[in-house]
Amino acid sequence: MNVTPQHMDIMAECTACGEKREFLKKSLPQGLQHAEVSDVEKRLKCASCGAKAGKLRFGSYCDD
Ligand SMILES: [Zn+2]
Repeated sequence: MNVTPQHMDIMAECTACGEKREFLKKSLPQGLQHAEVSDVEKRLKCASCGAKAGKLRFGSYCDD
């Protein structure tokens, strides 16, 4: 995750049910702090439907 600029917001989106929620990088276990995005996505589990179909969306929601 070290490719992600600090100012970027991350949203975790469930591709199964469409649930979106803010993804907090600091909430990752220590071992995943520098994992590849694809590895983190594999571990995402939707709190709404329970599917492991999470995708991370990167973007800044602040004014540029
Ligand atoms: Zn879901």
